[in-house]
Amino acid sequence: MAGSGAFLMSFWMAYSAVLSSIAESELSPEIHAHELRAHVYRLASPEFLGRRGPGAARTARHLAAAFKRLGLKPAFGDSYYQDVPSLLHEGVGKADVIGRNVGALLPGRDSRLQEEWVLVSAHFDHLGKRGNVLYPGADDNASGIAMLLEVAEHFALSEDKPRRTLAFIAFDQEEAGLRGSMHFAAHSPLPFRYLKAALTADMLGRSMANVMDEYVFVLGSERSAYLRELIEKTPPPPGLVIGRLGADLIGTRSDYGPFRDRRVPFLFFSTGQHPDYHAPSDLPQRIDYRKLQCISQYIRDVTKQLADGDAAPAWNDKPLPPDLDEVRTVAVLVNRVLKRPDLYPLPEKKRQLVQSVQKRLNTILEQGKVAAEDRTWLIWNARLLLFTVF
Ligand SMILES: [Zn+2]
Repeated sequence: MAGSGAFLMSFWMAYSAVLSSIAESELSPEIHAHELRAHVYRLASPEFLGRRGPGAARTARHLAAAFKRLGLKPAFGDSYYQDVPSLLHEGVGKADVIGRNVGALLPGRDSRLQEEWVLVSAHFDHLGKRGNVLYPGADDNASGIAMLLEVAEHFALSEDKPRRTLAFIAFDQEEAGLRGSMHFAAHSPLPFRYLKAALTADMLGRSMANVMDEYVFVLGSERSAYLRELIEKTPPPPGLVIGRLGADLIGTRSDYGPFRDRRVPFLFFSTGQHPDYHAPSDLPQRIDYRKLQCISQYIRDVTKQLADGDAAPAWNDKPLPPDLDEVRTVAVLVNRVLKRPDLYPLPEKKRQLVQSVQKRLNTILEQGKVAAEDRTWLIWNARLLLFTVF
C-alpha cells in the first residue's frame, strides 16, 4: 500500500506541475486565479533561490522572457533590462552592478496622449537564502509580480488598447533600500514630466494581522484629488473592500517612495503585514488567490481609467484634508485584533497599547471629524503599532 501511495503521490505531483506550467504560460486577457497561483508558485520555488543574487538574475531573465512573449516593447531602448549600480560607485569607470530592473512598454494609441505614461510596478527581489533556509517570499512579492504579469498580459492582448503609454516595471533591490526604484526614478527611460501616475504593489495575497481578509489597503490618494475620486468611484470586485489610508501612516515602506519624493501622483496597494512577513513561512500555499485575483482586477480597472481618461491626475502639494474613512479602516483592524486573540495573539503590554489606540479612535469617530491634532496622533500611533505590534 505504501508503495502505491507513493506512486500515486509522485504521479499527482507531476500532474499538478504540468497543470501549473500550463496555467503559467496560458495567454488570455482575463485575469484568472489559477494563472496568478501558477506565477506565485513558480517565483517562490527553489528554482529562483528566494530571488536574490543568482536567483534574482534568473528571475530577471524569466520576467524579460514573459514580457517578450506578450509582444511588449523593451522599456530601456532595445533592452528589457536596466542595470542598478552600487551606491558606492563614484562615477569613474564601470560601476559594480548590484541588480537589474526589468521593464516593458505598451505605446499609447492616441497620438495626442501617447507621450504621457502610467507606471504599473512591483518589486521581484526578496531575502534569498540564509544558510540552507529558503525565504520564498510568496506574498513579498511574488504576489505583486503575479499581478504585474497578468495586468500586462491583459493590456497586451486586449483589443482595446490604452490611449496613454503604459510602462510595466519589475524592480530589483527593493529589500536593499528601494535601490531599484530609486535608480529607475533617477534614470527614467521616459520623461518624468509626462509620468501621470505611478502605481506600485507590494504584498497582495494575505490578510493584515490575519484579521483583514476582505481588505486591500490603498495608500497615496491623499496627494491627488483626481486619484482619490478615482479610487472612490471604481467599484472593487464583489468580496473585496478598499481601505484607503494616507501613505504617511506607514512612512516609506516600498517603491512608491522615489515617485512621491518627485511629486508624481502615486498609489500603493498592499494587503499589509502578517505573521509570516520576512519569514521562511511566507509560502505560496498561504496566499488567498481569489483575493489576489480581485485586487489584480481592481488595479487593471484603475490603470485603464488612468490610461484613457481625458484628464490625468495632478499632484497636490498639501495632502487632502483627512476624512473618517481612514480612521474607520484603522478602527476595524484594531477592533478585530482585540476581539480575535485566537487569530492574532497579543502579549498583555501590547494589548493595552492597542486598547488605548482603540479608545481614541472611537472618540474621533464619535465626534464625526478628524481634527489636525487627531491626525498627528494617528500618524505616530499607526507607525508605533506597525513597528511594535504587527
Ligand atoms: Zn516587499
